Amino acid sequence: MLNIRKLLRTLTVCSLSLLATAGCSRQPEFRAPVYHEVRLGAIKPEGWLREMLERQRDGITANLDEIYPEVCGPDNGWLGGEGDRWERGPYWIDGLVPLAYILDDQELKAKAQAWIEWTLASQQEDGFFGPDKSYPYIEGLQRGMAHDWWPRIVALKFLQQYYNATGDERVIPFFDKYFRYQLATLPEKPLGNWTFWAEYRACDNLKVVLWLYEKTQQPYLLELAKLLHQQSFDFTGAFLGREMLSTLGSIHCVNLAQGLKEPVIYYQADPQPKYIDAVRQGLADIRRFNGIPTGMYGGDEALHGNNPSQGSELCASVEMMFSMEEMLKVTGDVFFADYLEKVAFNMLPSQITDDFKWHQYLQQANQVTCSFGVHNFDIGYQGTGQVFGLLTGYPCCTCNLHQGWPKFTQNLWYESEGGLAAMVYAPCTLTTTVGSTEVTIEEKTSYPMTEEITFLVNPSAPSTFELSFRIPLWCSDATLSVNGEPVSCEGPVAKVRREWTDGDVVVLNLPMKVTSQRWYQNAASVERGPLVFALGIGEKWEQRSLEGKMAWEFGPTYFEVFPTAPWNYGLMKEVVYDSAAEVVVDEAKLVGDWWWSLDGAPVKLLVNASKIDDWTLYNGDTGQMPYSQVPSRGANDTSSHAAGKIEQIALVPYGCTTLRISEFPVLTH
Ligand SMILES: [Zn+2]
Repeated sequence: MLNIRKLLRTLTVCSLSLLATAGCSRQPEFRAPVYHEVRLGAIKPEGWLREMLERQRDGITANLDEIYPEVCGPDNGWLGGEGDRWERGPYWIDGLVPLAYILDDQELKAKAQAWIEWTLASQQEDGFFGPDKSYPYIEGLQRGMAHDWWPRIVALKFLQQYYNATGDERVIPFFDKYFRYQLATLPEKPLGNWTFWAEYRACDNLKVVLWLYEKTQQPYLLELAKLLHQQSFDFTGAFLGREMLSTLGSIHCVNLAQGLKEPVIYYQADPQPKYIDAVRQGLADIRRFNGIPTGMYGGDEALHGNNPSQGSELCASVEMMFSMEEMLKVTGDVFFADYLEKVAFNMLPSQITDDFKWHQYLQQANQVTCSFGVHNFDIGYQGTGQVFGLLTGYPCCTCNLHQGWPKFTQNLWYESEGGLAAMVYAPCTLTTTVGSTEVTIEEKTSYPMTEEITFLVNPSAPSTFELSFRIPLWCSDATLSVNGEPVSCEGPVAKVRREWTDGDVVVLNLPMKVTSQRWYQNAASVERGPLVFALGIGEKWEQRSLEGKMAWEFGPTYFEVFPTAPWNYGLMKEVVYDSAAEVVVDEAKLVGDWWWSLDGAPVKLLVNASKIDDWTLYNGDTGQMPYSQVPSRGANDTSSHAAGKIEQIALVPYGCTTLRISEFPVLTH
């Protein structure tokens, strides 16, 4: 019986391929991505970004198998063991692989290699790979559950990155065999056959299929792409229909962050503008109905509106970043690069401790305690959802957080049609080839804290090619110079094509204005360039322990954080209406490499504010948001709170805070 099934599968694959090759099934034109990744490892982080990645390595990523052995240790199913065989092991490797190759760390590479070797060797005759046994510890689960498509999607991601780093010849045939298996099996066992996760996250499967199609031009891959798109949750319809994102609880927060790129990924196989339009509409509606100033949204875990005391899951942040990276490459649209920076610079540093040992499952935009107990979250995990820990909340984030900074680093530079493109900015050194010329570009900057970025271009021989630079949409008066001579700086992507010689210097200046946006109940945020600014509140950390079953589930240790200073401030209207803020840059702190703490913040905004006595705590959260002026009603409206004593307060980058107010009531005099 099994053999007949296999034979049928093979026949189906062959006939589909033949049909496509013979022109019986007309394929729309394939649209290759605008940008392509450079070799993994070609971009080396410098300055603050190197410090970030090294802290990540030393804090959690290098040692997760030792500090979380029950899941990531040698007994994991993805190492052939009897332990966990679902998403968490592959999640870790999806971040470990890029970190290992970016830092060129042999120990880390060796750790990742064990998982890669087992995964490659696990492929069966019919193309299936990965653990092939049911979970012994979940009673009543149907046999065959181990074949769930979802964890394999994560494995495809780490294998693709591994191939980009090493060119290991085993990877392409492995993908080919698995994708033929998928094409044959999905009609009978669709994405949602075992769990619903693959239906929402199929885009990451799709992305690897289309990447392989670009390499091999095998027509069956477009058939598979179509099938994956058809079986995937219909994000295009949901975003264009407009109902889902205005409905509380309608979607899981990580499914949204991860899956929202599906229409743009599929656009490569079927280049209709509706797919791009759908995602732009979706992101606008996320902002409108659920948005917080960092680009994320109330989703704790269900979609939960825009009250700044709702939670946002760490997995959603790193998946949102990855979605932006992928959509940026496909479309070349700098909107996605701006969005990526906003989540990376604001959300990510504040959701993980400075030593990278502890993280927060759910974070609030207005977060004035991180306390054990009941908060207004869709799911609270017995009170541990908001405190810092290793396993507090749900341990998906423990394993998934690793992809954030390494992939961000990998997306600082791309290969473009005419040369190289800098689409996201941070200090780094790129070493790659353009044509036959080896090129090194050092990118020196304190961005995002400061406005200037210097590129030292060093080709091995004089060579003509194009360098492209993103002009962020928030920047209206950027300037660009080559060796001190101004050159045209038209956005959204400024291109300089010339003969480059050793020692050429490009300087990009991105003036950052102080701006404001309105959010929940007309509360205001303050931004400067890619950074959101917040009232940083003094922190008192208290270590707690758990015992028994609670310790087994959420870890023996966690941390609560309480404020040591008042938080209940509103901003005076001139800050919000007229950008009245004094920008203070601390040069001494700027030369340090760790900015992401209250003490380390190198940029501050001094603004007028006033305390609101009746804005008080409710269950450890900020209580009812005091009323603010509606912008359209003008400055003389009296419906908002009148200020008491006016004080000057310092706002710091959101990414430097643990406790904060980032959405402020707006006060009148
Ligand atoms: Zn998570």
